[in-house]
Amino acid sequence: WVLVNWRQAGLLIVGILLFPLIIAGVVLNTIFLVREIKKNEQHDAFINAVTHELKTPVASIRLYLQTLQSRQLDEGKRQEFYKVMVEDSDRLLNTIEQVLRAGQGGTRLKHRQLAPVDLRSLVSECLVLTRTRHHLPDGAITYHEALAADTPPRILGDEDDLRAAVTNLLDNAVKYSGPTVQVDVELEHTEASQATLRVRDQGVGIAPTELKRIFKRFYRARNIVTTRVKGTGLGLFIVQSVVARHGGKVFAESPGLGQGSTFTVQLPASLPS
Ligand code: ADP
Repeated sequence: WVLVNWRQAGLLIVGILLFPLIIAGVVLNTIFLVREIKKNEQHDAFINAVTHELKTPVASIRLYLQTLQSRQLDEGKRQEFYKVMVEDSDRLLNTIEQVLRAGQGGTRLKHRQLAPVDLRSLVSECLVLTRTRHHLPDGAITYHEALAADTPPRILGDEDDLRAAVTNLLDNAVKYSGPTVQVDVELEHTEASQATLRVRDQGVGIAPTELKRIFKRFYRARNIVTTRVKGTGLGLFIVQSVVARHGGKVFAESPGLGQGSTFTVQLPASLPS
């Protein structure tokens, strides 16, 4: 009787110890499964978005070319068609560049890529590009500077990469502004060793839980307003990779949905010698 009871007690203890382990295993398994499903969903959404972004301009260019080929058009109409085709090919090039740049992700800057970059002229170049690309009126994007010395900050880095990062931030500010675009850009260089760029919009805003996630590759916030806007979820990932490669950091702030957002980039900088 004693032996039988000891056996049962032993089994009971083993059962009590194993039960939480099995439950923990099931919970962990479910968590990983859900994560994997979400990742797959993001990949699918990304493939759909990229396919759409590649197909649409090509289809449009093809249509215009066919029209030019098959009809006699006056000079005015032809010039209008050329303009649309150039815009479409810019859009195509932009998507391809985004995908290629995202692929470079965590690679380090090569020594030969490093050159002093004048941040002020780079930002003003990106402002012109954004205004033209989105057909914005002059007042839609304002620009301010707060510089300790009268000289613009210089960054030791890759100009193309930095241009892509700043353009992505400006593009997003416009894209997620809704019908009325009011974007403020501020360049600050009051600390000798650091330059700060702020891009503030009055748009759809970001929920507090999404503020960090939006920098992940393929991630797109799921609120109704942002899902209506087309995108691949690569822009902010590129911004973060570029800024990190230059030894800086980037973060987003927003009082909440519908209340605008501010993106701040901090980069190690120096004054021109
Ligand atoms: P995409 O714009 O192609 O979706 P991004 O990586 O540039 O990809 O942005 C990721 C997500 O972050 C966007 O889908 C959007 O939900 C959110 N986001 C980015 N910029 C802003 C902004 N200025 N205002 C509100 N939401 C933004």
